[in-house]
Amino acid sequence: MTSQEVRNQFLNFFKEKNHKIVPSAPMVMKDDPTLMFTNAGMNQFKEYFLGNSVPKSKRLTDSQKCLRVSGKHNDLEEVGKDTYHHTMFEMLGNWSIGDYFKKEAIAWAWELLTEVYKIDKDSLYVSVFEGSEDDGLPLDQEAYDLWKAIVPEDRIIKGNKKDNFWEMGDQGPCGPCSEIHVDIRSKEEKAKVDGASLVNQDHPQVVEIWNLVFMQFNRKANGSLEPLPEKHIDTGMGFERLCMVLQGKQSNYDTDVFTPLIREVEIITGKKYGKDEETDIAIRVISDHVRAVAFSIADGQLPSNTGAGYVIRRILRRAIRYGFTFLDTNKPFIYRLVRVLSEQMGKAFPELKEQYQLIENVIKEEESSFLSTLEQGLVLLDSVIKSSKDKTIAGDKAFELYDTFGFPIDLTALILEEKGYQLDKEGFEKALKAQKDRSRAASEVSKDDWNILKTDTEQEFIGYDSLEADVKLVKYRKV
Ligand code: ATP
Ligand code: MG
Ligand code: MG
Ligand code: MG
Repeated sequence: MTSQEVRNQFLNFFKEKNHKIVPSAPMVMKDDPTLMFTNAGMNQFKEYFLGNSVPKSKRLTDSQKCLRVSGKHNDLEEVGKDTYHHTMFEMLGNWSIGDYFKKEAIAWAWELLTEVYKIDKDSLYVSVFEGSEDDGLPLDQEAYDLWKAIVPEDRIIKGNKKDNFWEMGDQGPCGPCSEIHVDIRSKEEKAKVDGASLVNQDHPQVVEIWNLVFMQFNRKANGSLEPLPEKHIDTGMGFERLCMVLQGKQSNYDTDVFTPLIREVEIITGKKYGKDEETDIAIRVISDHVRAVAFSIADGQLPSNTGAGYVIRRILRRAIRYGFTFLDTNKPFIYRLVRVLSEQMGKAFPELKEQYQLIENVIKEEESSFLSTLEQGLVLLDSVIKSSKDKTIAGDKAFELYDTFGFPIDLTALILEEKGYQLDKEGFEKALKAQKDRSRAASEVSKDDWNILKTDTEQEFIGYDSLEADVKLVKYRKV
């Protein structure tokens, strides 16, 4: 089954159960001060849960573009090192806004996985919330009993607040959840160790695929829970993980979501995937990161020096450096993956096709710009490492790398970690603050420039001069 079919079958299954198929919200948040990027399917529906607005349909379904690189959900460090966490991924979801509850959500999830997708029942485990003394909540007996009618009890795992009580943030809608995990180990491995003991253990072959959240509380500012006026269902299934299971693979990167990208990296770099771990990590990181960056640009968030734009720039620079160090690339090449990506994903996400040329241009410019300082920066970092006596690199050196060579601080930290060194983060922050104080006056001037650009709306975007300075880089032509 192709990934395209997997996605369509999910949406059609819930459409047949009277759900309205809605488009993914943008991955980049524009109007929520608490969140930079969409990190779960429910984000765009949170006002419905809180009762602040009413949806057109009480049953909704979609495939949401998510990015987990900052805030409460940050998987960046895992990406590439493991085979099932991405920066950007799709979350398939179905929602009940004050309509059906646990009974239907559980029954339909099971029906879809075992009857439509035909996943072997004996490879599935489910979990229920064990309760929490802090919140005065008991075991989720209702969910336990519903599952008991479907699966043997030794496949039901009781989980703690961390794994089985889903919260939107410190405040807001929340509730116990049931997760579905799949064991893709070989028969021999399964015979050696009971799969139930590997659930929630970060095992690469016993992975969580679907989270069914039973929204029934609102967490108040003082930490207490109050029942929501209505009960809701909020589910999220990892699309790439589901494809891995359905395509009989052991890694998300072996599914057709990623293989065209990986093949393209192999062709461009002459390196082979699957031969050596260091190369493989680099190839996975690049195939992952190009998606995050491309989708973000398609949503209108370009790499820049501040806010969400800087997060995107950091992701791209991270990918560029993985290529340079481990795949011996010294020319822009990541932009060449955009064509493959838009062919693969453009049907489900037309913005990739529509913005194709822009995405390519922006990534290429970013690559050229960073590659022009990367090598020198790495040489400097090497010499600093060689002269370091206590395995810690001074903050002012990290600042020089940031300021002169464009090394985001987390990139410097990553390189140091690979070599067994540490970074004086406090020293870096101090140097950064000193620079900000110095340049405050100068930034007033560029703010004025920005205002002029912004108010002159009759302009057509025609490209970039340089990607170093945020504001001055945009070229416009009067139309
Ligand atoms: P995990 O425990 O594996 O980190 P999670 O519990 O943080 O996952 P949820 O917040 O429950 O994830 O999200 C719902 C689903 O989205 C998960 O069951 C999983 O299939 C998928 N998912 C979560 N994070 C990622 C990621 N970084 N990359 C790909 N899929 C993910
Ligand atoms: Mg997680
Ligand atoms: Mg989890
Ligand atoms: Mg989960």
